[in-house]
Amino acid sequence: MAHKVLDFTHSVIAGCVREGDLVVDATVGNGHDTAFLARRVGERGHVWGFDVQEEAIRSTSQRLCRLGLGDRVTLVRDTHASVAGYVPRPVQAVVFNLGYLPGGARSVTTTAGETVAALRASASLLAPGGRLAVVMYRGHEGGPLEAEAVLSWAESLGVSWTVVRYGFGARRGSPPEVLIAARAHAPR
Ligand code: SAH
Repeated sequence: MAHKVLDFTHSVIAGCVREGDLVVDATVGNGHDTAFLARRVGERGHVWGFDVQEEAIRSTSQRLCRLGLGDRVTLVRDTHASVAGYVPRPVQAVVFNLGYLPGGARSVTTTAGETVAALRASASLLAPGGRLAVVMYRGHEGGPLEAEAVLSWAESLGVSWTVVRYGFGARRGSPPEVLIAARAHAPR
């Protein structure tokens, strides 16, 4: 199921990202989304990836090198809330995959406060026609609070945004949810 959720998120992002674009992976984790984004933007594009854990940065960097994608990615060990201090110009997409690093310390998770700060910063960086994708998990402590904070942030977006929320209800326990916030294209 986790794969289905990721495939679904990737297809939504693929719909707005082209070769040469600039995009952000706000939570690199093990680097699956980072690698997907790096392929998508091609040689002329660039990905900025953020994670607070050295372990995540290291394993993602190794994955990207193995795949020959290292040159088109800048990995930053800092909170995604600081994204605007690093990324120099508007981006076409920002992807968040919340929660803890699979296989890592479960005590280190994304948090409601930092996530909402990062979403606000990402929304102001997003180019017209761009999309934000947030994969949310309620199954860990702090998860439900964080998901609710993301949803109320999304409600505050203005009329130039379209927000869609997907649930994957067939899964037992706490299925992941995906929130997509799409910024309207510039008027012609
Ligand atoms: N739950 C997902 C994977 C999430 S990985 C799954 O099961 O597939 C989430 C990553 O976010 C972790 O590697 C964690 O270190 C990172 N993270 C936590 N807080 C962060 C922050 N403030 N800024 C950037 N990354 C953060």
